[in-house]
Amino acid sequence: MSFKLLPRLIAFPIIACIGQCWWMANYSPTNMAASMIWIPLLAYAWFCIGGLTHEIVHGNLNSTPLVVTVSAKIIGTVLGIPHTVYREVHMRHHAYLNTPLDWEMWPYSDPRASLRFRRIFVWFDIVFAVVATPIIWGRICFSKESPVPLPIRRTMKIEYCGIAVFWLGTIGTGIWMHQTGRFQFQPEHFIFALPPLLATAVNGLRKIMDHVGTSSFDPLHGTRTVVGPSFITRTLSFFNFDLAVHGPHHRYPKLECSSLKQRMEEISEANPGQRYPIFPSFFAAFVDTLVAMVRNPGVGVNAGCTDDLSHLPSQTSAKVSSETHWG
Ligand SMILES: [Zn+2]
Ligand SMILES: [Zn+2]
Repeated sequence: MSFKLLPRLIAFPIIACIGQCWWMANYSPTNMAASMIWIPLLAYAWFCIGGLTHEIVHGNLNSTPLVVTVSAKIIGTVLGIPHTVYREVHMRHHAYLNTPLDWEMWPYSDPRASLRFRRIFVWFDIVFAVVATPIIWGRICFSKESPVPLPIRRTMKIEYCGIAVFWLGTIGTGIWMHQTGRFQFQPEHFIFALPPLLATAVNGLRKIMDHVGTSSFDPLHGTRTVVGPSFITRTLSFFNFDLAVHGPHHRYPKLECSSLKQRMEEISEANPGQRYPIFPSFFAAFVDTLVAMVRNPGVGVNAGCTDDLSHLPSQTSAKVSSETHWG
């Protein structure tokens, strides 16, 4: 494992889990001064776990397969997206970027989704990300059009059962504690749920920022890449495993995140005639995304691409494998 990965691994899973417990155990939900510090810090920590999950699913942490699988299943159970679902959807995102076979970018990639539907859905996707995200990812398990073979979908369903047991058990324990007087939950305790909820919303925005508004199916042209000189841009990117250096990641999915920026520089130098959608700051990428969200929240065909797609397999027969499509 790269030494550069260690600070990110130590910082965010630990801050998210231990920090969340510390805040809930030691501070009143009505202590606004403490909440103003803890909410953004923990929301960012939960947000970065999304970057960690992404590194795990790509197998880029160079850890043993057992550690990778167990940690991926645990994170998937807590986040409500089974590891197998994440892997199958994300593989298709890489293999069929921005095409109608890109399940991660649904409904933005679906030519059957009307402009009006996408314009409404894009705000639902961010504001109610905690509902929208499981819907988007869960389609590959439950849709009749799913291209995933039945045995793998069976595994997905078992993992969904694990999520249901975990969350029903957690909520049930809370209700039992409240009913038996062991702990009196008050409406103000909802504030403790804000960091993971905000992190889910920001992760929804991040995914939209990565691609929505791009028409190309090419990994480097169908992707917003954020590479900037400022301390804030570099720090935010660093702690989220440089997921924002998204074009090179799509082109080289097995490349360690610490090497993505340099690879982007090499690509730009080798192709001086090409203009890639590279942004110097998250704000610049956000503004460009906002314009696309208002005008036409789509990718690929829905964003105006007219390339011939007849070479693509049908929706239900689009098989992928990590060996051939993952780099
Ligand atoms: Zn992407
Ligand atoms: Zn990826």
